[in-house]
Amino acid sequence: MAQGRPKQLPDASGRFGRYGGRYVPETLIPALDEITAAYAAAKKDKAFQKQFRDLLKDFVGRPTPLTFAARLSDKYKRRIWLKREDLNHTGAHKINNAIGQGLLALKLKKQRIIAETGAGQHGVATATACALLGLKCHVYMGTEDMRRQAPNVFRMRLLGAEVIGVNSGTHTLKDAVNEALRDWVTNVESTHYILGSALGPHPFPMMVRDFQSVIGREARAQILKAEGRLPDVLLACVGGGSNSIGLFHPFMKDKSVRFIGAEAGGRGNALGEHAARFSGGSFGVFQGMASYVLQNEDGQVMGTHSVSAGLDYASIGPEHAWMRDTKRAEYLRCSDERALAGLHLLAESEGIIPALESSHAIGILDEVAAKTRKGAIIIVNISGRGDKDVAEVARFEGVKL
Ligand SMILES: *Cc1c(COP(=O)(O)O)cnc(C)c1O
Repeated sequence: MAQGRPKQLPDASGRFGRYGGRYVPETLIPALDEITAAYAAAKKDKAFQKQFRDLLKDFVGRPTPLTFAARLSDKYKRRIWLKREDLNHTGAHKINNAIGQGLLALKLKKQRIIAETGAGQHGVATATACALLGLKCHVYMGTEDMRRQAPNVFRMRLLGAEVIGVNSGTHTLKDAVNEALRDWVTNVESTHYILGSALGPHPFPMMVRDFQSVIGREARAQILKAEGRLPDVLLACVGGGSNSIGLFHPFMKDKSVRFIGAEAGGRGNALGEHAARFSGGSFGVFQGMASYVLQNEDGQVMGTHSVSAGLDYASIGPEHAWMRDTKRAEYLRCSDERALAGLHLLAESEGIIPALESSHAIGILDEVAAKTRKGAIIIVNISGRGDKDVAEVARFEGVKL
């Protein structure tokens, strides 16, 4: 091993190569240090790990199944397995991280939680974890998103959370993140910020990855049992990057296993029409970290578009940026149209309506299959269920409900 190269990433300063780090106001550094130390202790603390495992089992319903997709396998002449995060309580993978960080907040003796949310999925997961653990919960959400996702706003309120509308900027997710960071700077003594994806300042990308790695650990054991060998490909959609890194990470040292991420190709190649950071973005600093960012020549962060709110973000977790540069992972784009076709395909052929986010992984299965030999084993992460998206799909397709 080359001298000075860290055995594990991120390195001590929270970097994955040139990506990651901490680009935050000075006042937050002590809080980030405190979380880093508490998390390092929790990682070694058997009682903490048992509490986390028990809640994942008894509250979330883990382990989630690995389902063989018989008709999809026939269609593509590959062996296709689905990791069923859609079967978690609250309907997606986000609850894994929300509970992990909720437990950490208890350890930090912080009674108040803040979170940001776009479509409301992370807000609902956080409100759920807070109700479970007896923590006070404030969720920041753009007012435009609140209008589009009214049922999720009501869900959070049913769970006892306070939803705070954000009226700055475009009234969407990035503005909600800015407000949450501002709140955190002011209330850092009493408050833990539960970030919703594997991004932001160190240690969040590492910590969220670790909490979500339960997905890949289960999948690895399940596929070895079912097929007697490792898979050829892991495929997942990539918004901030948490469900994908959660699936990929436990296979990091299995060099024969290819990682493929599906980014939101939206409705076109022009900046503003998609959220494909790797084909349209460049190196930059955004919301606490260095990574690929969709920005113009002046470094102004651009608006994004995707049919799925969960993939609609201008940057991407730093570990993905590093894996992309080092070619450990590949990232393909999936347009709105192909994602919708993917949703229909999985619904009709396997009896599972996936979230629009997860549909981006199904949407590029033909392209992924073409990169492999006949009979290859492909695991696709179904990050969430599609119930939340039914009305949006109908609207998109001009169907009146
Ligand atoms: C939020 C969300 C995503 C995208 O977030 P990642 O951090 O990239 O996983 C994907 N799928 C579902 C169902 C989501 O709710």
